[in-house]
Amino acid sequence: MHDIVLIPGDGIGPEITRSVTTILDKAGADINWIKCTAGKNANDEQGTPLPEKTMEALEKYPVSLKGPLTTPVGAGFRSVNVTLRKKLALYSNIRPAKTLPHIKSRFDDVDLVMFRENTEGLYIGKEQWVKKHSHAESIAVVTRRASQKIIRAAFEYAQKNDRNKVTLVHKANILKFTCGLFLEVGQNVAEDYPDIEFEDLIVDNMAMQMVIRPEEFDVIVTTNLFGDILSDLASGLIGGLGVTGAANIGDDKAMFEAVHGSAPDIAGQNKANPIAFLLSSLMMLEHIDEKKLASNIREAIYTTLGDKEACTPDIGGSGTTETVTQAICDNL
Ligand code: NAD
Repeated sequence: MHDIVLIPGDGIGPEITRSVTTILDKAGADINWIKCTAGKNANDEQGTPLPEKTMEALEKYPVSLKGPLTTPVGAGFRSVNVTLRKKLALYSNIRPAKTLPHIKSRFDDVDLVMFRENTEGLYIGKEQWVKKHSHAESIAVVTRRASQKIIRAAFEYAQKNDRNKVTLVHKANILKFTCGLFLEVGQNVAEDYPDIEFEDLIVDNMAMQMVIRPEEFDVIVTTNLFGDILSDLASGLIGGLGVTGAANIGDDKAMFEAVHGSAPDIAGQNKANPIAFLLSSLMMLEHIDEKKLASNIREAIYTTLGDKEACTPDIGGSGTTETVTQAICDNL
């Protein structure tokens, strides 16, 4: 039995969590869920968005599955998600985007994996007013150590998964020190992987290339802010936020979550698509070496995507969270 920390989260989080645990249970996953709270719900109930008990569980157990979190204003946190990634040293944010059967999108054969540096860049939160409400500044941090870790993780992934190319995305023509360092580290790391093609592209060009010829990209590695934006773009290429899973991986901890947020506009309405969170849970099953189980559930998802009456409206269906959950269970 696998011990896994489960944080249902806010907004649509509890609905999609119910769906995912039901499907994993039906598929025969042997998991002992250690239930914890974080985010707005935790703040309302316990006066903090990151209770000590949750942090203790996340530090004790190596794997967690986390629903989307809303960070309440005035609770002492800029972002609970960013804090968790930093505290648990989850330096790789991995977001695959692969064309799905039965999902209408502009391209037929997208199959890329985005590696986003998760702990530094512009997201360290060093912002200040130089003059209140008229002049603000924000500092971006890029270190050789963190750059090496994320870029090496991207190459290792490429090597283990028979991928042919790594594309490093940057803005070193303008941000000569921060992005310049990231690019230099990438060029050095690439030398250790002579069988994998390496290219670098400037982020604005990359944004255009991704909507013109996304099928030509394979593994992409980039800094925190660029990765945040480009990975949402990548999910748009294959059907949107409702069908994109993600993982946050460090040296000894891994946290799986969907790319999307808590979607307060549809929370509690039985409209949320649980497939993104379910795909994240499949990345989790693969991580804990339950590959057969993951592939069985993936097959059931692919079959269900053809059943428009069961699927949720965000992907053109007329169903609900409950009908899609039931259909995936029936297709297992
Ligand atoms: P969002 O991803 O929650 O929603 C964007 C749009 O996509 C909304 O219209 C929403 O209804 C739709 N959507 C998202 N997930 C869906 C799903 N599974 N099924 C169907 N439709 C879905 O982004 P937002 O509105 O910018 O953010 C809402 C809150 O979530 C904010 O508090 C934000 O900080 C938080 N957030 C958390 C995470 C995380 O926990 N990792 C990530 C992003 C945003």
